[in-house]
Amino acid sequence: MAQLRRVGLLGGTFDPVHTGHIRMAVRARDHFGLDQVIFMPAGRPPHKDGLVRTPDEDRLAMLAVATEDEPAFTVSRLEIDRRGLSYTALTLTQLTQENPDTVYFFILGADSLDYLDQWYRPDIICRLAIIAVADRPPFSREKQEEKAQEMRSRFGADVRFFPFEPCDVSSTQIREMCRRGEDLRGLVPQPVDDYIRRAGLYRY
Ligand code: ATP
Repeated sequence: MAQLRRVGLLGGTFDPVHTGHIRMAVRARDHFGLDQVIFMPAGRPPHKDGLVRTPDEDRLAMLAVATEDEPAFTVSRLEIDRRGLSYTALTLTQLTQENPDTVYFFILGADSLDYLDQWYRPDIICRLAIIAVADRPPFSREKQEEKAQEMRSRFGADVRFFPFEPCDVSSTQIREMCRRGEDLRGLVPQPVDDYIRRAGLYRY
């Protein structure tokens, strides 16, 4: 039998993509030996009432420039082009139907693991993907392990932590810094910084 492809799925609002996202993808790729990491920007994120202020095409364009030097990284429009709220369970259902030869690693930060059980159909997510978790402050390792155990016993989840030095950056922080006209160096990839300035994003 042909070997299964190992593919990471990193979902998010990416408003904008920042160095935390890129580092997570790099670490997950190296740790799990992933052939590919798909960045999946949400069209209408359920946990944000389906609202994102920044146009889809800008979020996609920033992801494109942030990932252009990594051949294993790709950006998908699947959730942007799908109608309705962007449920990961639906995305994984579609991806696994279309790619039966692939094992998926759903990459997420510890803050997302903390409420994954409240997402739409966590049972489907845990059946169709290995849950690959990156440390993220302020969640203690103890709290993360407790949550992982709960997901294992409730949904039979395969939760795995990968080495990730905590990286205290968020899209919210970047948007606020832009509003105040502050320097984003080191917090977003340089081409993303250039794009934000050219397009005049996050000024208000
Ligand atoms: P916002 O501040 O707008 O809520 P965010 O920085 O959390 O955004 P998202 O696009 O919502 O970014 O996150 C996508 C995924 O990346 C989530 O699983 C989140 O937990 C994870 N993530 C984002 N930033 C980090 C970080 N610095 N460390 C670890 N995980 C992160």
